[in-house]
Amino acid sequence: MSSNFKGAAASAGVAVGPAFFYRPVSDEPLPDFDDPAAAFHVAVEATVAELRELQAAATAAERAQAADVMGAQAAMAEDPMMVTEVESRLLAGISLDTATSEVSDQLSSMLASLDDPYLAARSQDVVEVMGRIRTQLSGKERASLALDRPMIIVTDELSAADAVNLDPGRVLGFVTSRGGPTGHVAVIARSLGIPAVVGIAGIAAIVADVIAINGSTGEVVADPDEDTLARFQQAIESEARQREADATYSGRSVFYDGRPIRVAANVGGSEDVAASLHADGIGLYRTEFLFLDRDRPPTEDEQYEAYAEAAASFAHPVVVRTFDIGGDKPAEYLAIEPEENPFLGVRGVRLYESQAELFASQLRALLRAATQGDLWVMIPMVSTVAEVLAVRRAMAQAEDSLAADGTEFGAVKLGVMIEVPSAAISAPQLARHVDFFSIGTNDLTQYTMATDRTSGVLAAYSDPAHPAVLQLCALTAQAATAAGISVAVCGEAGSDPVTAALFLGMGMDKLSVAAPRVNAIRALTDQLDPKRVTAALQRSLGADSASEVREIVGDILP
Ligand code: PEP
Ligand code: MG
Repeated sequence: MSSNFKGAAASAGVAVGPAFFYRPVSDEPLPDFDDPAAAFHVAVEATVAELRELQAAATAAERAQAADVMGAQAAMAEDPMMVTEVESRLLAGISLDTATSEVSDQLSSMLASLDDPYLAARSQDVVEVMGRIRTQLSGKERASLALDRPMIIVTDELSAADAVNLDPGRVLGFVTSRGGPTGHVAVIARSLGIPAVVGIAGIAAIVADVIAINGSTGEVVADPDEDTLARFQQAIESEARQREADATYSGRSVFYDGRPIRVAANVGGSEDVAASLHADGIGLYRTEFLFLDRDRPPTEDEQYEAYAEAAASFAHPVVVRTFDIGGDKPAEYLAIEPEENPFLGVRGVRLYESQAELFASQLRALLRAATQGDLWVMIPMVSTVAEVLAVRRAMAQAEDSLAADGTEFGAVKLGVMIEVPSAAISAPQLARHVDFFSIGTNDLTQYTMATDRTSGVLAAYSDPAHPAVLQLCALTAQAATAAGISVAVCGEAGSDPVTAALFLGMGMDKLSVAAPRVNAIRALTDQLDPKRVTAALQRSLGADSASEVREIVGDILP
């Protein structure tokens, strides 16, 4: 019998296919062992070897994020703390089955209870690593995401490592019971072009053969009846026709009301750069991914390689954001003090004073890479003019130190992300000190609406089409136009046709989106009627709600 569910739309696209219920950790009890301590050690060694192999394979495939996660998990499997916790239980006569389960539960809930998103993510790593050790002990094959045919994954939660390793050729889509629509996993799904719906409580426990998902609306149907299947099939066909039509825009320049519009790509590492060559440059390079899930930060040379490769790959500007660590993306080695509200804490630019050396190494790497292309440097989380002035001073010092060393470097433009309401409201003042703005609608929405962006429960509040968020975007565009500087949107709202149309109407000159959405946004830009957009924008800014805006703009989309 068919059953309907509604979750948060996390990555656009419609798909129907056989369900693959992914339960990475087997919950079957382990058998008794003659020498449990010896068996445990063999299983730990095998797990470390398995993770190191996965790390090497990910490195060879240039999947740096996955390699870092695998490396961190291998280090955790060897960590004496986890090993001694299990050993001491075995010495007390507790079975290996109970000892490994207890230690997994205890360590993971201890980390999760610290109320720190980074440690909460490590808590998930503990569960995954102990799950691998237990699978080794059970002698059974580990559940794998290496699908042998195209399927739809249904699971409680995917780890970032799972997500970056998904094969878009086999994974038709995925549905999870946890997670928010702008969390890491959703952002990765969009960059891979895999439809996804998140936040459907209990979905992993249902029984179904076939799953239909619509990643644009959040609709999920288990074992769809014939009518539903026909409806989804129609949507799939119309999407395919749309993709074909959009593909004709590959490499084309587009204009809105006679104004050239750049449609650039958002990237998180070199594999994304390679998948974005059809875009008008890079509008957001999230460099913090080079810094996360590792024991120490990347060296200046490692960073130089990554930035130079990106800069050299495009004739258009490559906008590289300095590390946006903190919030839901902390790095353990920076020893950031635990905070009650990390999203309102020491995040992005607020970290640079205490991490002056690390920031200097990034600026040096960026200035050196600017010899390879048109490189623009962008500061995240700016909320005051003083922060921009401090970054300008750090930039001048980095230039002086490179000149003193006789190292070659190039000129860069300096801009800021507008993602905090104070920055949007102070845009006229900020515009006097920078070369460009780029609006981060993901954070601008969370800070304007006061809703944690990783929350699935609050997804309804987190709509960037809310008139309050739109007002701040319009203010920013006006200030940039008055000052004669470039203004872009690089948050996820840039790839949603409703908000994208309004951004063009406001005067943005660039939209930066996940690589698979580039041609669709070019097509939209080319086909909009500017007169109708202007009228819809006026009404939207005065509307009562995001849903009213969606109705108004829905009527004028091509
Ligand atoms: C944003 O906040 O909209 C943005 C683009 O940055 P991130 O999603 O990396 O915070
Ligand atoms: Mg942001």
